[in-house]
Amino acid sequence: MARDFAADILDPIAGEIVTNVGRWVDREVKPQASEFEHADVYPDPLVKGMSEMGLFGIKIPERYGGLDLSFECYAGVCMELARGWMSLAGIINTHVLVGYTISEYGTEEQRQKFLPRLVEPEIRCALTITEPDAGSDAQAIKTTARRDGDDYVINGQKMWVTNGQRAGVYLALTKTDPTAEPRHRGMSAFLVEPGIAGFSVGKKFDKLGYKGVETTELSFDDARVPASALLGGKEGSGFQHVMSGLEVGRINVAGRGVGLAQAAFDDAIRYAQVRVAFGRPIIEHQAQQIRLAEMATKIRAARLLTFDAARKKDSGVRSDLDAGMAKLFATEMCQEVVLDAMRIHGGVSYSKELPLERYYRDAPLMVIAEGTSDIQKIVIARALQREYPV
Ligand SMILES: Cc1cc2nc3c(=O)[nH]c(=O)nc-3n(C[C@H](O)[C@H](O)[C@H](O)COP(=O)(O)OP(=O)(O)OC[C@H]3O[C@@H](n4cnc5c(N)ncnc54)[C@H](O)[C@@H]3O)c2cc1C
Repeated sequence: MARDFAADILDPIAGEIVTNVGRWVDREVKPQASEFEHADVYPDPLVKGMSEMGLFGIKIPERYGGLDLSFECYAGVCMELARGWMSLAGIINTHVLVGYTISEYGTEEQRQKFLPRLVEPEIRCALTITEPDAGSDAQAIKTTARRDGDDYVINGQKMWVTNGQRAGVYLALTKTDPTAEPRHRGMSAFLVEPGIAGFSVGKKFDKLGYKGVETTELSFDDARVPASALLGGKEGSGFQHVMSGLEVGRINVAGRGVGLAQAAFDDAIRYAQVRVAFGRPIIEHQAQQIRLAEMATKIRAARLLTFDAARKKDSGVRSDLDAGMAKLFATEMCQEVVLDAMRIHGGVSYSKELPLERYYRDAPLMVIAEGTSDIQKIVIARALQREYPV
């Protein structure tokens, strides 16, 4: 079936999990997503449902209590969640990304301390790279972490922190050597727990879409963390660890693009069969048939590209090229498909009674966050250059 994401999943167990998440989305998420979204309320009951399905531990190794499923499965889960409400896939994104980064690059002490608590989840995770003066150019951040005896002292401002108010651990990218060249060699990531002196969560942004989940400012003002908070226990690898985590984030966002576009398409093709214009259902007008055919083809291409990137990540090799292509294509496609679904609906698409206006407000985030489309193209081009050495 065109909309059955599990049909493209090679592992049957992963496929079954994605199908079950899809059923839950139809039953629990679709009927109430717009209500939560319009009220901009954190969807506690839905998050509880995600937790009961084990989704917060989807990438946590079994020895720490997680499900330890594949990225292929994760991509399908993100598609299904976003088909219901894009914000749900956002709530889980930095959590899974940070959990992955801890399990891949953390010390054994860090794994034991955090991973079992991420499964339920007793605590949720946030990732904080972006600053007022540095977004796409992540190596331009100004937040510093200075060694002082057995501690590090962190100073700086962060912004656009998803899960900023509810996180129990923040993976914070800093500079431990602001003079290092190349700049990334002086960067280190820390696992910061809230409640310490000098750490505060600032303003929550009032956003166009992506509501329900909070996005905030953060500030570090002589915030003191123990040296054991340094991810992996070694300075200078933070940029590389975070970039590897972002491959996971880009698979999530690509999946979100596919899921949201699918939701828009599902609504559009149903509407096109019942809405009559010039004496026949609009689906019988060839221009609309062509539009629907193009939408479905683009969604399918994005979906295959996303699963392909996820499987590449599952193979354990660097997958910035694949994740970048999937994220670029799926999110740009999503914007186009959502607008096409609005065209098919005509005037009624502009009403807040239909979810299309929510899709329309949610879609642009995905071409921006987790690296803009311009940045994906740069990542892709650099990876291609590596593949064609001269
Ligand atoms: C709702 C939301 C949630 C977010 N959540 C998080 C989060 O949890 N954690 C986090 O760390 N960040 C988060 N972000 C930040 C997000 O990752 C950044 O906004 C994004 O990376 C772009 O950075 P910027 O906003 O500073 O734009 P800029 O870097 O200022 O870019 C502005 C424009 O210039 C273009 N540009 C920049 N450099 C180049 C170049 N070299 N070549 C061509 N064009 C270029 C960009 O593509 C863009 O079009 C979030 C953002 C939003 C909106």
